[in-house]
Amino acid sequence: MSYFLLDEFENIEPYNPGEQPDDREYLKLNANESSFPPSPKVLEAIDKAHINGMSHYSDPYCWKLRKAIGDHFGVSAEEVFVGNGADEVLSFCLMSFFRPGMKICFPDITYDFYRIYAKAYRLDYEQIPLRDDFTLDIEPYIESDRDVIIANPNNPTGLAIPVSEIERLVASNKNRMVIIDEAYVDFGNESVLPLVKKYSNLVVVYTFSKSRNMPGARIGFAISSKAIIEDMNKIKFAFNPFNLSSLTIEGGCAAVNDEVYFEYCVNSVIKEREEFEKKLSEIGYEVIPTTTNFVFFKAFRTPAGELTAKLKKKGILVRHYDDERVCDYIRMTVGTHDEMERVLVALLEIENSYAGCKLSVTA
Ligand SMILES: *Cc1c(COP(=O)(O)O)cnc(C)c1O
Repeated sequence: MSYFLLDEFENIEPYNPGEQPDDREYLKLNANESSFPPSPKVLEAIDKAHINGMSHYSDPYCWKLRKAIGDHFGVSAEEVFVGNGADEVLSFCLMSFFRPGMKICFPDITYDFYRIYAKAYRLDYEQIPLRDDFTLDIEPYIESDRDVIIANPNNPTGLAIPVSEIERLVASNKNRMVIIDEAYVDFGNESVLPLVKKYSNLVVVYTFSKSRNMPGARIGFAISSKAIIEDMNKIKFAFNPFNLSSLTIEGGCAAVNDEVYFEYCVNSVIKEREEFEKKLSEIGYEVIPTTTNFVFFKAFRTPAGELTAKLKKKGILVRHYDDERVCDYIRMTVGTHDEMERVLVALLEIENSYAGCKLSVTA
């Protein structure tokens, strides 16, 4: 630590990304990435002219991408904010609307970045416990006077709450900002998006990292009222106007316009997830029903931490959390059919390595 680092940042908590070891080839199912490549239209879109275009700054308003996203979602470009990943979108949102000490709340078990950002921005945050079965009770949020961030569906549990519950929260106090993170909404969930037209205190956050197979491109966006989006852009212009590269803007437009490929990938993941959930249950794991691109299940014979380590030895990376409420669980991305077959073989080998164990799944 240098002489200059602020005291309050001495123990700042860094985000813990899923590990990316390079000692060998791994099947990487620990970060909810995609086994599908980006749309082939992305490569077509980034041609020589755009490479040459890098001799100029990118459009700080990102109009082309905001227009493409707006057209897709049935809103105007002025209602769309784009950022370098949903993480940056969340960061700009907190930077724009929250000063140190302001009150915010989110679930105790959710996307780690909410807590990390709340600390980094020195907010007064409260983590509201999920119920024992990890479902979210909206009442304490409605009763609270705090602003709210909720991931719907949630990560890592994969559970979602109905849009009607969120509407009750948003409507309960128009002076409270409600940020809904819909990173996984495309895998079979209802979106709160229609509520944006009705309520001016709702911000919905999305990403190209999950359902559009582009985590490495770093594209996230928010849809909200024109006033909120204008404010966020104002702050962005005071901080990092050129937050998306010209190549990213082009690639993002191509991806959002390729509806056919998007549907194909999302439907493949949903189908594979349903099949994989069934097989996990057959083996004996307690699987939390989900509508995302990952599964969250409870270890029963080999403890979750050990199972994670044994899978890694077999070249498969999955996510395990130390938090005591979820330390018996494993989160695993749903990949292709062949990949999930490989996972099932590995799980059976591990679980059947004990005397007298003969678990199996139907072919
Ligand atoms: C993956 C994820 C994000 C991050 O999205 P990026 O666009 O890659 O920054 C945000 N929120 C949730 C709930 C996520 O799981």
